[in-house]
Amino acid sequence: MNRQQLQNFLRTTDPEALELLWLTADGMRRCEVGDAIHLRGLCEISSICSRRCLYCGLRADRQIKRDRMSMSEILRAAEKAVELGYGTIVLQAGEDPALSREWVAQVIKLIKDSTDLAITLSLGEQSNETLREWRDAGADRYLLRFETSNPELYRRIHPDSKKGRNRLDQLWAMHEMGYQVGSGFMIGVPGQTENDLVNDLLALPRLPLKMIGIGPYLPHPDTPLGQHPELYLAPPEDQVVATPLLVWKVIALARLQVPKSNIPATTALAVLDEQEGRKLALQRGANVVMPNITPAAQRSLYDIYPSKGRAEAAEQTSDAMTTFDDQLKRDIASIGRTVGTGRGDALWSWKEN
Ligand code: SAH
Repeated sequence: MNRQQLQNFLRTTDPEALELLWLTADGMRRCEVGDAIHLRGLCEISSICSRRCLYCGLRADRQIKRDRMSMSEILRAAEKAVELGYGTIVLQAGEDPALSREWVAQVIKLIKDSTDLAITLSLGEQSNETLREWRDAGADRYLLRFETSNPELYRRIHPDSKKGRNRLDQLWAMHEMGYQVGSGFMIGVPGQTENDLVNDLLALPRLPLKMIGIGPYLPHPDTPLGQHPELYLAPPEDQVVATPLLVWKVIALARLQVPKSNIPATTALAVLDEQEGRKLALQRGANVVMPNITPAAQRSLYDIYPSKGRAEAAEQTSDAMTTFDDQLKRDIASIGRTVGTGRGDALWSWKEN
């Protein structure tokens, strides 16, 4: 789709145009990746972070209680994923220096020795040496969002980006190493304009992506962006505001941009619209859900953005996970879809041009 078409869809409120978008995206999803919804168990292995991203509640300057899961806790979470029938475990964390190359490689090997799970890592910016070691240890996939395709906005919301590495370079390097690579962006970050959002969508097919994660920006009250949005906002007529409708549109357009990719109905969207967020995303282009399998105590600390699920986690037992899983599987059946079996790898092999 070209710039003008993307812009028209982002702007339209015409019910017929919207219906056309939903039907086209849902049809494309069915043709290209089928009716199965793949479930990935999300395990938030550390809330310790050395970075200061302006939007994220785990930013290093916050004086909050943080914790890291032990190897045996992570292995128990992997067993839980298997028990629930998931084919993938996603290990996500802040950039915690104690998640060393060797330690993570060991965790990967232990999971691979004891389960058939595919392993997705979401551990932020890492050197090629580290990424190669984790790949050799058995990691299958890696998620690293580019967050925004506007370099100036990117620098503004990542004050220590010079310390890290260029995320686009890392995506290409991981692709070369044989990872299935996932990326994506947030919608509605203060300073993001409609033009930026169009560029984010245009960037997707130019990158070697098999997975695309897109969610609304959710203000965290104890971060610079959450506290003082007025310092960062674009002029009111240009500033993107993340409504559920806009997020569904962007997910549908992402499906049309990269037809064979795996696209999750993200948790952030489910937080923005608890009633319909996830279900309508699955009917408008998405084909993946990432249920949270982090033990309750650790989950309550993984405070990237405010969410009811996390607030309640403190009181939860592991039964809550099973309850969520039951409900999710019922929801999937109620929209005439099936739960994916096996690892749910993306079939598509990305080729240049
Ligand atoms: N440290 C890892 C994992 C970050 S959490 C990394 O940097 O890749 C995963 C994603 O959550 C981020 O990429 C970001 O897009 C999203 N996120 C973080 N804070 C958020 C917020 N306040 N609102 C919405 N999404 C947020």
